[in-house]
Amino acid sequence: MEKDFFKNYQEFCKSVTKKYEDPEKEIMTWGLGISGEAGDVAGCIKKTYSHNNDQKPGIRENLGDTLWYIAAICNFYGWDMQDLFNENVDKLKKRYSSGVFTEKDAGKRDRIDWNEKTN
Ligand SMILES: [Mg+2]
Repeated sequence: MEKDFFKNYQEFCKSVTKKYEDPEKEIMTWGLGISGEAGDVAGCIKKTYSHNNDQKPGIRENLGDTLWYIAAICNFYGWDMQDLFNENVDKLKKRYSSGVFTEKDAGKRDRIDWNEKTN
C-alpha cells in the first residue's frame, strides 16, 4: 500500500464532500448514508443468491460507497483511517491470537455491545 494511502483518500473524499453549516445534520447524513450503502450491499447479495439476479458489480460499487462514508465520518471526527485500520487489525489479532479463525475465539465475550453501552 502506498504511503499515506488513507490520508490521500480522506483528502480526496473531503474535496468531493458537500459542506454543511450544521454539524449535527452533517454527521446524521453520514451515519444514515453508510447504513443505506450497507443496505444496498445486502440487497445486491440477496438478489444475487436468492433471486438468481447477479448483482456482484453492485456489491462492489456499494462497498466502495460505504468506504466513502467511512472516510466522511472519519473526516468529521478528525480521525485518521490508518489508525482505524490499525486498531481493527490489533483487535482481530488479539481475538484470534493463533492467527487463524476458530469458533472458540469468535465466541469470546470480549466485545462491547455499543448499542447498550452507557457513559
Ligand atoms: Mg451506492
